[in-house]
Amino acid sequence: MRIKVDRKKCSGCHLCEMACSLFHMGVMNPERSAIRIEKDDLETSVHRPIVCRQCKEMKCLDGEEVNDKSEKGKFLWDEGRSDRCPFHALTVFQGNAYHCDLCGGRPQCVKVCTPGAIRIGKGPGPM
Ligand code: SF4
Ligand code: SF4
Repeated sequence: MRIKVDRKKCSGCHLCEMACSLFHMGVMNPERSAIRIEKDDLETSVHRPIVCRQCKEMKCLDGEEVNDKSEKGKFLWDEGRSDRCPFHALTVFQGNAYHCDLCGGRPQCVKVCTPGAIRIGKGPGPM
């Protein structure tokens, strides 16, 4: 299971970030969310949701002797893993990397995304 993104549908409302940080950290703070919206300030004003792709081969864990499956279930990671992610998918804030743990199977961000820019998908595929 992973979160699939259709960036063309993203309105840039940031509700997904709020839902994530509220669910995991008890605060509404986009800096403490595992999903983040990057804005292209060019004429197109494209908003791009960025979130962990739940890779089978987790480059973010290179050099660590840890169990991939159990790490996938954790929200707060060490910030060093962010540098190893080829997709720059992790939000970093005050020494932690914020990693999408899929909310234990019911992603809160997907629930609040009324335009349908993020949805639950299975298996690898384009973001
Ligand atoms: S909730 Fe959906 S539309 Fe709003 S910023 Fe997040 S991905 Fe984009
Ligand atoms: S943090 Fe990056 S490398 Fe690691 S599983 Fe997520 S997208 Fe893949």
